[in-house]
Amino acid sequence: MGKVWFVGAGPGAPDLITVRGIRLLAEAGAILYTGSLVAETALQWAPEGCEIADSKSMELAQVSDWLLTRAARHETVIRLQTGDPTLYGVFAELARPLDAAGVEVGLVPGVSSAMASAASAGECLTLPEVTQTVIFTRHAERTPMPERESLAALAVHGCTLCIFLSIERIDQVAETLVDAGWADTAPVVVVHKATWPGEELVLRGTLADIATRCREAGIVRQAMILVSPALGARERESEATSKLYDPGFERRFRGKGGAPAS
Ligand code: SAH
Repeated sequence: MGKVWFVGAGPGAPDLITVRGIRLLAEAGAILYTGSLVAETALQWAPEGCEIADSKSMELAQVSDWLLTRAARHETVIRLQTGDPTLYGVFAELARPLDAAGVEVGLVPGVSSAMASAASAGECLTLPEVTQTVIFTRHAERTPMPERESLAALAVHGCTLCIFLSIERIDQVAETLVDAGWADTAPVVVVHKATWPGEELVLRGTLADIATRCREAGIVRQAMILVSPALGARERESEATSKLYDPGFERRFRGKGGAPAS
C-alpha cells in the first residue's frame, strides 16, 4: 500500500505551493484535485503517466474510494486542495477510511487564502497592542455554526476576523458585526481570487458600504472578507510601535479601527 498525501496547493498562484508539495507531485502516481479552486497549473509538476482526476463531480465516498484504490497501485497518491488542507475541507472524513484500511496518510500545509488575501491587500492581521488575535470563521449556511461560534458571538472580541465562505452573505455579515458593536465606519477588505494571475481583485470599504461595493463589482464567490482594527495601520502613524510604552496608549487606542471597545 502506498501513502496518501493531502497537499495544500495554495490560494491560486501556481508558485505559492510549497517546495515539499512540488516534490511530492513530481513523484505522484495519482493526483486527485479539487476542480474549481485549484489552478490546474499546479499539475504542471506531475510526472508523465501520472493518473490525474478532478473530484468536482464526485461524492465524498467516491473521493475516498478513489484514494483507496490508487493507494493500492501507487506509492504516492495526492489529494491536492486549495489553500491549506486543514481549513474548511473534509480531511477527517477522508482520512478515516484510509486509516481503517491501514493506509498511511500525510499532510502538507499550504498557503491559506486568509494569508494570501492579507498579503494581496498589503495588510497585517495583527498589530501590537491593537489586536493580537485572528479568528478564522464563516457565516452559517448549509453547514450550521456551533452556537458559541456564531458571528455575533465572535464579533464582540473586536479582533481580526478572516471570514471564509461567506461572500454571498456579505450584507448579513456586515449587519451582524455592526449589531455586535463594530462601528459602521470600520474598514473591511474583500479579496476576490487572491493571487490568481490576472483575476485578483482587492476591494476596500467600510461595514456600511462593503456589501454595495461587492455587488457593484460583481463579487459573489471565491472571496475572503477581512475585518480588523489592524486594517489601514500603514496610514495611521499614531499607532507606531514606538507608542507602545506610552502610558496613555491603552486609553487612547482602545476601540481603534472601529472594533467594539471592551
Ligand atoms: N482550505 C482553503 C479554504 C477552502 S474554503 C484555504 O485554506 O484557503 C473556500 C473559501 O476559501 C472560499 O469561499 C473563499 O472564502 C476562500 N478562498 C479560497 N481561495 C481563495 C482565494 N484565492 N481568494 C480569496 N478567497 C479564497
